[in-house]
Amino acid sequence: MVETIVLRVDRENPDEPVVKRAASIIKSGGLVAFPTETVYGLGADAFNPAAVERVFKVKERPPDNPLIVHIARFEDLYDVVADIDWRVEELAKRFWPGPLTLVVKKNPSLPKITVAGLETAAVRMPRHKVALRLIEMAETPIAAPSANKSGRPSPTLAEHVLRDLEGEVDLVLDAGPTDIGVESTVLDLASEKPVILRPGGVTLEELENVLGDVEVHPAAIGLLLQGETAPRSPGMKYRHYAPRARLVVVEGALKDVRRGIQGLADLLRSRGFRVGVLGSDSYAYRADALRDLGPRSNPAQAAKLLFRCLREMDDEGVEIILAEGWQEEGLGLALMNRLRKASGGVMLDARRLIRELKSSPSRIYTEIMGT
Ligand code: AMP
Ligand code: MG
Repeated sequence: MVETIVLRVDRENPDEPVVKRAASIIKSGGLVAFPTETVYGLGADAFNPAAVERVFKVKERPPDNPLIVHIARFEDLYDVVADIDWRVEELAKRFWPGPLTLVVKKNPSLPKITVAGLETAAVRMPRHKVALRLIEMAETPIAAPSANKSGRPSPTLAEHVLRDLEGEVDLVLDAGPTDIGVESTVLDLASEKPVILRPGGVTLEELENVLGDVEVHPAAIGLLLQGETAPRSPGMKYRHYAPRARLVVVEGALKDVRRGIQGLADLLRSRGFRVGVLGSDSYAYRADALRDLGPRSNPAQAAKLLFRCLREMDDEGVEIILAEGWQEEGLGLALMNRLRKASGGVMLDARRLIRELKSSPSRIYTEIMGT
């Protein structure tokens, strides 16, 4: 156990002495949780294997899941990767600093543990002033996965970091809620055709504008990869972003989704479960807890609120969360990816749900509860 220091820092004008203290912790091999525009990161000197090892340990992260390396200036890229082609330059020009992570052949000097033994490295330049200043002052690229225990929803508030990691990190920089609320887009440029390995803050549509054709890996949509032994992105194979509650996503036309969710909520509550609903557009569900992700026309706002709502429902003792599905456009792709992964693949078609609630509710119950 260590004593975790928490320091508030202004997001627009990061207080120099505070950031300097954080930077000196990074320099001496310590761990600092810090805000980025996506989620809070758990940072360590990317070139210090012992510090990076501590990140894996504290997060309980599987050792084959590599970390994203964060840089503050384009020139830093040369330390982290080999092979900087026109695509990297164009994308960096257009989206950095910002929520886009590029996977490129690694620089041999980057420690193996940071990239989990792969030949590639994932790198990005975050847009948050606190993050940028911290990296600059630490004078080294910072390896930083999300600052949560592995598998839990990512932290969008400093309190979330403390919940998961108090007593295990040296310092938490608290700059209030993060802007985007879901993680960066991970784009694989290691082969000829660019492939999105994880949808995130930069959308598919935006990337296509720069690159032309961009593929979306099936696992990035959130479809489970059955039988695939070597996923392109190690992070793909793990259940992720999950609240303690069981999560069920209902997809289909909105009117059916709402009817289906209400019917299912009634069924589960009648069997004694505490049921939460993750809805939209101020729609009034009858449930034990209700969170509203905002207007359906604004998936970016929904993405921003998602992780926080999942954690809040956990805190309220919700046992089953029923979530409306979203259209997979813009930030909606990242949002649905997180919902699908958090559900562990429990996705229901609304029309079928409505039919089965009438004809064989116990079958639906078994499908969801597994018993
Ligand atoms: P997190 O640190 O929690 O934001 O997760 C980082 C994501 O980037 C994980 O899904 C990793 O599997 C993925 N990632 C990191 N490095 C690489 C790499 N070299 N190749 C492919 N995916 C990577
Ligand atoms: Mg993560």
